[in-house]
Amino acid sequence: MDAADMGKDLERVLITEEELQAKIKELAGRIDEDYAGEELLIVGVLKGAVMVMADLARALHLPVQMDWMAVSSYGAGTKTSGVVRVLKDLDTDIAGRHVLVVEDIIDSGLTLSWLVHNLKSRNPASVEICAALRKPDAVKVPLDVKYIGFDIPNEFVIGYGLDYAERYRNLPFIGTLAPHVYGAS
Ligand code: 5GP
Ligand code: MG
Ligand code: MG
Repeated sequence: MDAADMGKDLERVLITEEELQAKIKELAGRIDEDYAGEELLIVGVLKGAVMVMADLARALHLPVQMDWMAVSSYGAGTKTSGVVRVLKDLDTDIAGRHVLVVEDIIDSGLTLSWLVHNLKSRNPASVEICAALRKPDAVKVPLDVKYIGFDIPNEFVIGYGLDYAERYRNLPFIGTLAPHVYGAS
């Protein structure tokens, strides 16, 4: 899927495919350095982190294992519910492991702070966060994010794994939606 396939539904491209790919390579370089000599478990938060996980995993030179968690925090719309539910837990026992949680976006930060707390209770060697995007509200929650792709304005974005009502995840870039799509007109 690309911009042309979206027709009038796309308001504008915020971060291009090239910018995303360059940033992922840069982050992978830092992660390779920071975890040199270690084995890393990268944990993707479904479904939004699928694209970042796939690109990051392939850009890393480290030996990594991949696991997934599914939590729900947002409904089908654009507002956070503040409620975190585990829909799918890890298959892996993370005790003694170096864990890197990979996320698409940090908005309120509620999901991730809950998740990090939950993972730390399983006695891993370390837990760090890598997120492709971060919104301004994230500063309100005390969350130590080691690897961050882009700080973006407080707008609802789609693409590169991020959806609106399950659509647009397969865009290779980050964009904003035209207001008519979500009924604001
Ligand atoms: P938080 O708990 O930090 O507020 O956000 C949790 C989740 O809400 C994110 O992982 C993401 O799935 C979703 N989310 C937050 N902001 C956006 C956005 O601008 N666009 C989309 N599509 N999802 C978002
Ligand atoms: Mg997410
Ligand atoms: Mg969503």
